Amino acid sequence: MGKLLIVGSVAFDAIETPFGKTDKILGGAAPFIGLAAAQFDIESAIVSVVGEDFPQEYLDLLADQNIDISAIEIVKGGKTFFWSGKYHNDLNSRDTLVTELNVMADFNPVVPKNYKDADVVMLGNLHPNIQMSVIDQMEVRPKLIVLDTMNFWMDNTLDELTQVIKRIDVITINDEEARQLTHEYSLVTAAAKIQQMGPKFVVIKKGEHGALLFHKEHIFFAPALPLKEIFDPTGAGDTFAGGFSGYLTQTENVSFNSLKNAIIHGSNLASFSVERFGTERMLDLEKKEVAQRLRQFKELTQFDIELQ
Ligand code: AMP
Repeated sequence: MGKLLIVGSVAFDAIETPFGKTDKILGGAAPFIGLAAAQFDIESAIVSVVGEDFPQEYLDLLADQNIDISAIEIVKGGKTFFWSGKYHNDLNSRDTLVTELNVMADFNPVVPKNYKDADVVMLGNLHPNIQMSVIDQMEVRPKLIVLDTMNFWMDNTLDELTQVIKRIDVITINDEEARQLTHEYSLVTAAAKIQQMGPKFVVIKKGEHGALLFHKEHIFFAPALPLKEIFDPTGAGDTFAGGFSGYLTQTENVSFNSLKNAIIHGSNLASFSVERFGTERMLDLEKKEVAQRLRQFKELTQFDIELQ
């Protein structure tokens, strides 16, 4: 069975959307990635850190989905990473109200011995030095290293980020970040420039407008499923990354065609994640529903056209 190593924040999130507000709930990139990847027949482990204030029941929720949580360090007397965000009415944009790094500020990731030969490594959005340290600890070069990042690291740690980008296979970023990284408006040109920086594959996420996959001269586009209700977009990108990397860990095939399917699986799972606050929807997601929506995805994009 394929092994997926996940590195990312485990957090308390407080979220405000036009539909309501939460107190501190389970959040962070790693839980979203892990819960999405748990839909596949794989082994997975999360490397992260929390404070002593982090409820055991949240860790149990992850363990119940067969995610190995033994490498989530609990810092005695420490406070868990806290993030708070407020969405605007269109749900496409949000303001970050609070980011308290707390125990994440001094986080030194330790890859468990039995994951130093993981097939796929999913580097969630974190300081590039943490992402680099994880790559350095791998004893066998993974079949695929996927990296997610954001404008915050481009603004503050561009040199370190550039060094990590050199060593990965796939980068997932949103359209604005791709433009910021390359100073190119055209996403096609931006993706070509990013490939020159290192990754063979570039995934550009466009939120409710889907995602693009670039590899050499090939381009693939997957729409996002048009949903009646979007409740809370928090973690949609991480859920996408979890579905993407989970599927590839299961298939152990890293061809362009396989990555195309991975994009569809990622988009499919992200469409569930946004239906409720935080990770709530991902916790009771059934394989049957996932398969049914996958069928909807296929119908959405299939057409017969006569070509001359
Ligand atoms: P997304 O909606 O995909 O951008 O991911 C939201 C998740 O990322 C939330 O659960 C936050 O806890 C987490 N998050 C937000 N900012 C950061 C950061 N600077 N470092 C790590 N995780 C973060």
